[in-house]
Amino acid sequence: MPLCLPAVTFASADVEVNDKSSERELKSDKKEKIHCVFAYSSPMGGERGTTTEKRLAGEICCACKNFLPPPHTRGERYCEKCKPPVKVVYAAFERKKAWEVVFYDSATQQCLRTVMFQDEEKLVELAKRGGALTNLEAKQTVENGISNGKGGVFLKLSPDQYNKLIGKI
Ligand SMILES: [Zn+2]
Repeated sequence: MPLCLPAVTFASADVEVNDKSSERELKSDKKEKIHCVFAYSSPMGGERGTTTEKRLAGEICCACKNFLPPPHTRGERYCEKCKPPVKVVYAAFERKKAWEVVFYDSATQQCLRTVMFQDEEKLVELAKRGGALTNLEAKQTVENGISNGKGGVFLKLSPDQYNKLIGKI
């Protein structure tokens, strides 16, 4: 094994993308990893690790193409600079016949939409998806609101989530 090491290290820079995207398989079989590394060093290696592949593998920003820090998850991702801004929306909820949730744009105070939820689990799910349950205090605020029959929570929405909320998607 020590004899193989220099060769693997030497080639690994070229194959980082492929290596990472199939990390799970490779981890399970070291022998195969070595085999793959050598395979990628062949002339055919030029076809691998294209910009498109790197973008789809979440290795580079899908806008500016700069490298993203690991861990890399498959799918298009933005770097911190290109990330679309999150929209902060306030969801005020109140128990009536069902749970009435009124969404306000936190910047303009404009009422965006009113929805009804039959059960409070949906409220918790909403808060979770809006990134509002990141700590214990936030969870307790939502839980207290639910047990009091009235409360509110700030949601951080991606442009897609926001457009869905206001019915643009
Ligand atoms: Zn970028």
